[in-house]
Amino acid sequence: MQFNRLRLKGFKSFVDPTELVVERGMTGIVGPNGCGKSNLVEALRWVMGETSAKRMRGGEMDDVIFAGSQRRPAHNIAEVAVHLDNADRTAPAQFNDLDELDIVRRIEREKGSTYRVNGKETRARDVQLLFADQATGAGSTALVSQGRIGAIINAKPSDRRSLLEEAAGISGLHSRRHEAELRLKAAESNLERLDDVIQTLE
Ligand code: ATP
Repeated sequence: MQFNRLRLKGFKSFVDPTELVVERGMTGIVGPNGCGKSNLVEALRWVMGETSAKRMRGGEMDDVIFAGSQRRPAHNIAEVAVHLDNADRTAPAQFNDLDELDIVRRIEREKGSTYRVNGKETRARDVQLLFADQATGAGSTALVSQGRIGAIINAKPSDRRSLLEEAAGISGLHSRRHEAELRLKAAESNLERLDDVIQTLE
């Protein structure tokens, strides 16, 4: 899959609708201090399913919504969309018949986030897995923020292992395994309950 475009509306300092074309190869963002370079990278991480407000440099997730300026009132909604080319058919099975994917995350003040893929409401988890399987996503090693190199050098071995797993694109498998284990436990406990019912009937 290839990122083609990023669209933002009401996200942090990007109050007006803004569209960025992402060309093939390496992309650099340059600009004066405070112009919104980090906000752009955060928008990409956010649309891929980031769940930590702290990692978005906020106290709560609503802090990603445009908070107002001297000339403009605050907004109540923020939206980020990322457009992907799936011509190489590398998206997970449930999305793999689509040539292009338009993934949108929207947040409304005090109401939380919703996700849509090509206009259809989708679970946050499915969007997160879609990117995790591509070795990208909110925790991707491809997005190197300020202070990250130092944090990696000082990280615990287990945290460094997670980093390697993320880079190898297998973190989605761990997450699926965890989900399968939970389902298995629920099925086992249902079976136990069924045994109790059968015994009381006998
Ligand atoms: P530097 O080069 O100094 O790291 P930068 O280009 O990365 O700066 P950002 O940190 O992306 O800049 O943007 C900071 C700007 O975004 C600040 O002016 C801040 O007020 C603004 N900002 C952050 N969150 C919001 C929000 N919710 N509403 C409005 N503006 C916001």
